[in-house]
Amino acid sequence: MSRSIRAFIDLAALEHNLTVVRRYAAHTRIMAVIKADAYGHGLLHTAKALRKADGFAMLELDAAIRLRDAGYQQSILLLEGFFSVSELAQCKKYRLSAVIHNHEQLAMLSASKHGRLDVFLKINTGMNRLGFAPEQFLSVLGALKANPAIGHITLMTHFSSASDTDGDQEVIKQLQCFNSMTTSHSYPRSLANSAAVIRYPETHADWVRPGIMLYGASPLTNKTAAELNLHPAMTVTSKIIALQYLQSGNKVGYSGCFQADRPMLIGIVAGGYADGYPRHAPTGTPVLVNNQRTRILGRVSMDMLTVDLSGIKDAELNSPVILWGKGMPIDEVANAANTISYELLCALTPRVTKTAQDHTLTHCARGGL
Ligand SMILES: *Cc1c(COP(=O)(O)O)cnc(C)c1O
Repeated sequence: MSRSIRAFIDLAALEHNLTVVRRYAAHTRIMAVIKADAYGHGLLHTAKALRKADGFAMLELDAAIRLRDAGYQQSILLLEGFFSVSELAQCKKYRLSAVIHNHEQLAMLSASKHGRLDVFLKINTGMNRLGFAPEQFLSVLGALKANPAIGHITLMTHFSSASDTDGDQEVIKQLQCFNSMTTSHSYPRSLANSAAVIRYPETHADWVRPGIMLYGASPLTNKTAAELNLHPAMTVTSKIIALQYLQSGNKVGYSGCFQADRPMLIGIVAGGYADGYPRHAPTGTPVLVNNQRTRILGRVSMDMLTVDLSGIKDAELNSPVILWGKGMPIDEVANAANTISYELLCALTPRVTKTAQDHTLTHCARGGL
């Protein structure tokens, strides 16, 4: 089957976005977050584009091992650590760093004194997802220090509200909590996700952990990616595979959610929720046809969606469509569909062929990695 929906991954954009992070956080090491198959962009070519990062972070042990096997020497951090004794052994074998966030992991660590493991001790400062309570911090740190198998220790936390326009108070509260526990220790520290990289320089510490901004989407609700000089790394393109002329009163698609109030030309696009386009994107969600902005109409179906071709110049069979990416900011599509860029990027399904575009990287790639 050669459906025309495709995702193009712009490696130069990834590389550029990393330099934007560097500009914000010039004196800090960068842990590029590449969980969930690099936010849907594809692990290995993304890592290659981001090879100048000081480290990589993800959740999936198998992906971390693939990265190590591909030759990357940087820190590779597992953001949820290990889940079993055998995973702990794998971490040591492949020199993966592990987030330590619960007592089960501590128990596995104390039962495994050989080898060496670098750890990120996670403190729960208010997110209430992973991490030790502040009251537990000193005893956990003590247990890690007493364990001869523990190498470097880094202290970390994660913000719940760094991207919210009204999140200042919560970020400051978490930062103060973290600082009050950690500043008397000399261990390196890590707090900031993309939003905090941009909005809260006081959180940069020793390692920043940007994800979404590397992929060229905005981590902030009140600033566009373009305003932040971020370039979209993923562009999802497709084509018009059929045209329909609607008479006034005609309806479109399942349940006839959209009804024409005048005669109009519409296009059927190869792309639906089985490709990862959100089914809940309503009429009006922006889309490009022939590089002109228009809107989707009616209900997104499994393999197709419908676009308004009113006023679109030269719209015809095979006219190019951009669902998001270059010229069609993913944040606008996500807003219209009442979700976030992260979800759209990760939701792309395997039947959408991903092609990495490699122009600026060909010289480096020849050296191998
Ligand atoms: C996903 C994740 C990040 C990256 O967040 P972005 O908002 O994509 O920058 C950083 N830290 C942790 C612990 C994460 O899980």
